[in-house]
Amino acid sequence: KNSLIWFRNDLRLKDNTALYAASMRSRVGNKYLIGLYILSEEEWADHDEAPRAARKADVAGIVEAVVREMEISHVFWNAELMINEQRRDAAVRKVLSRLSNVHVEECDDQCVVPPRDVRTKTGNPYAVFTPFYNSWCKLVETEPHYLELSESPDANPATAKELFAEYFTKNPPSSHPHPLDDDLMRRRYPAGEQEAHDRLHKFVKERATKYHQGRDSPHQEATSILSPYLNAGIITTRQCIAVARSANKNKITTGDDGLKTWIKELGWREFYRHILANFPRICMGRAFQRKTERVQWSDNEELFQKWCEGKTGFPIVDAGMRQLHAIGYMHNRLRMIVACFLVKDLLINWQWGEKFFMNNLIDGDLASNNGGWQWSASTGTDSQPYFRVFNPLLQSQRFDPKGEYIRRWVPELKQLSDKQIHEPYRALSPKEFAKLGYPKPIVDHAASKKIYMDEFKRVLALS
Ligand code: FAD
Repeated sequence: KNSLIWFRNDLRLKDNTALYAASMRSRVGNKYLIGLYILSEEEWADHDEAPRAARKADVAGIVEAVVREMEISHVFWNAELMINEQRRDAAVRKVLSRLSNVHVEECDDQCVVPPRDVRTKTGNPYAVFTPFYNSWCKLVETEPHYLELSESPDANPATAKELFAEYFTKNPPSSHPHPLDDDLMRRRYPAGEQEAHDRLHKFVKERATKYHQGRDSPHQEATSILSPYLNAGIITTRQCIAVARSANKNKITTGDDGLKTWIKELGWREFYRHILANFPRICMGRAFQRKTERVQWSDNEELFQKWCEGKTGFPIVDAGMRQLHAIGYMHNRLRMIVACFLVKDLLINWQWGEKFFMNNLIDGDLASNNGGWQWSASTGTDSQPYFRVFNPLLQSQRFDPKGEYIRRWVPELKQLSDKQIHEPYRALSPKEFAKLGYPKPIVDHAASKKIYMDEFKRVLALS
């Protein structure tokens, strides 16, 4: 009999808990270890994931056929946190339980510390980042097994070929339509584990110690850009922390400012995964703070469209949205600015923005995206308070003082001075402004802020 490793969002050889367990099984008894990867268009669509993040698509429900035809006795997979995936796995388990002598082993792999292990003193999950992170760090520091990497004993090129013996289904998948910018995507984010590890090592060696100084300057390439790899399961948070920790003399909360700040950002990734696992309503389109679901959002599709296209007349917002269109990625500071603008200036439901991001990001991830949107919209865990409304002009002057980021993504404004570029509509005469071919601001920031604040106050006053 053979074993099966069902890869899902974890198609990698290194540090893959289920693969490790499966290859141990093959060593002690089973003949072959067979790898299965099902590309399902429906699942991608369920999470609004970007065609540019998807490689191909396929049909679900073939596990049983593979198990029967390939004489499998042991099936391994890594548990997933999202509710649709959990339901899918429960259904697969049910089907497999009808076959005689087929065992399923589900492994914890998605988080450094499994969500059930991080608890408050009263045994509840954390809903605020800082106490969560303190408690998480304590566990990671005192129980080294959490950071242990499971290197598959079979993970060498010779056996990998055997491991990935392909199984062709009767109905080959209809391939996903290639996005127009596919070549660019491939050049920017080359596929493969080696690329992910090269990026990680290069970042830690060359840039991580300055991360705390540069990470909020969008024109600098001061961050790791590892998110596309982390979210595709090509590299793990454990592996990233292991490399950063080793460069930081085995510390995670003290030591070098850049390295410890970077590790803390990975802590945010963990936090949002724990939130997803512990509060499944997040997967069902619900706000973390239920009260905020009563906010009456605007359904102005025209304004929404302008935001999507990067034509709001607010240069910093437009630059962020155009970066997203051009390269499928947006700098974190910009994600916060454009999200806050959509919700608090255009009064549009954060869920419209959440969906648009998932449709267009190369690193779209339900947990982090939802966390980021709810943080920005003041509906989430420890989100920014509702009365903190980013002023796009001040954000622009503070984080892009010389307009370098704006010039890169909004070429109409290239010729403007460092001072004019943040607010061309006010800084230029009507005639000069008209020549730019750039839109005027679609809303008045002060007036919108007031409407938004009044609405939030009304909702929070309801019992
Ligand atoms: P680095 O700065 O190098 O950080 C390293 C890693 O830490 C990142 O790759 C990421 O995995 C994690 N990380 C960093 N910041 C955060 C954060 N605030 N929340 C969660 N994890 C974090 N991140 C996604 O991975 N997918 C998303 O779909 C996503 N959507 C977002 C939407 C909004 C509205 C906001 C405000 C943030 C969102 N983020 C998302 C978080 C963050 O913007 C990205 O993780 C980060 O920009 C990725 O770039 P990097 O790999 O260079 O990050």
